[in-house]
Amino acid sequence: MNELHSLLRQLPKIDRVLESLDGNVRDQYPDFIIKTSIRETIEKIRYQILENTLNKLPANLEEWNFLFLEAINKKYTPNLQRVINGTGVVIHTNLGRSLLGTNAISSLQTAGASFTNLEFDLNTGLRGSRYSLVEEIICDLTGAESAIVVNNNAAAVLLALNTLSLNKEVIVSRGQLVEIGGSFRIPDVMESSGAKMVEVGATNRTHLFDYENVICDETSLLLKVHTSNFRVIGFTSDVSAVDLVALGNEHNIPVMEDLGSGSLIDFSPWGLPKEPTVLEIVKAGVDVVTFSGDKLLGGPQAGIIVGKKDIIGRIKRNPMNRALRIDKFTLASLESVLREYYDLEKALKSVPTLSMLTMDSKTLKKKGGNILRQLKETTTIEGHIQLQPTTSKVGGGAMPEHGIESWALVLDPGSDGASNLEKWFRKLPVPLILRIENDAMIIDLRTILEDDIADLLCILKKFLQRGIEN
Ligand SMILES: *Cc1c(COP(=O)(O)O)cnc(C)c1O
Repeated sequence: MNELHSLLRQLPKIDRVLESLDGNVRDQYPDFIIKTSIRETIEKIRYQILENTLNKLPANLEEWNFLFLEAINKKYTPNLQRVINGTGVVIHTNLGRSLLGTNAISSLQTAGASFTNLEFDLNTGLRGSRYSLVEEIICDLTGAESAIVVNNNAAAVLLALNTLSLNKEVIVSRGQLVEIGGSFRIPDVMESSGAKMVEVGATNRTHLFDYENVICDETSLLLKVHTSNFRVIGFTSDVSAVDLVALGNEHNIPVMEDLGSGSLIDFSPWGLPKEPTVLEIVKAGVDVVTFSGDKLLGGPQAGIIVGKKDIIGRIKRNPMNRALRIDKFTLASLESVLREYYDLEKALKSVPTLSMLTMDSKTLKKKGGNILRQLKETTTIEGHIQLQPTTSKVGGGAMPEHGIESWALVLDPGSDGASNLEKWFRKLPVPLILRIENDAMIIDLRTILEDDIADLLCILKKFLQRGIEN
């Protein structure tokens, strides 16, 4: 007990600490940040003393000041920071999904720094609709009659279901009641939308007659969901959009498809699996199609809803729409990215998601070779870093079992161990996020940007000369 008191008595007083702080520190950081960081640091140690979890009390004011400075710095540094994506997962949800190219970034600049005609019709001088900025382009690219964009695809699904099926039945296959991750579950979203879910078929097989058998006066919608990051393989069958549309037409019931990633182009010429494009689904006669803006499309976070004019009109009039509204930055960059698609050749270069997905492995091998050559100019790399083939992933729930041929820098962790080093790379001023496979550390070159290379070289030099302290 006495020992506890003596420890608590050794906690410094905030005023004393403030007096002892270097004048530079007081000039450099806001007062609020300095005081709060000092108080929080002392409180944390007080708690550790009381909980008996303290390792060692700082021995002198110098040691204390080290802790305070660390806390001040941490509070002062922006939480969102740039990282280098060495995982080879192109659409990495945890690392921010799709990146924007220079044109899209410049449109963000305009939307942020200038007044714009966001909701102002320059022809009439009257109030305009923000959706009109992108509707025509989306229709051009998808062949749809009408379109609207909302905050993300989850919102798109919610809004469409709420508009078409509030308190009414929606028929969906049991094989498509998936959880996408990040708490998006089809059954839960349906419930939140107010729709009544009617499940049909079995997990692996659903037939057209399964839908037909449960159609009744209460049926408002036939729903098809892309299973994204989940695959049923083996003895399976599901109903095509074309067949579902024929059934819907027969009973005068609309058909909706949540495409999830929803690509505007067919990636199979670049060796990726054939997925139905939005254009093909619209052509099949599906009445409403929803998809993400920041997955295979390569734009900002958004949910795009395309379809028949009357249905999209009803969706536009739903008051819930206001709460799920897309903001001006998203609209600005989305328009810019969509415009790139008018010239596909150019889009493959200017939309980072598209260029990363379609980059051939020879180019990546060359990129790796260049990095190693530059490293060799100043250090020896033998036995520590090698250029080896690997496979990248699309990510974002798209084409889950497909690996794309790629090349990687493979680091030998030596006696430090891969998991210690993985942490060390994460804590660098520019964190490097990489993959561990069989105790080797893989930096997949597919997701290394041109602008990352200078930093990557510094990091690799540090790695080669390291002495890690944890
Ligand atoms: C990713 C996905 C969603 C959610 O889209 P967000 O844009 O992340 O909200 C919904 N449905 C499917 C099938 C998906 O793959």
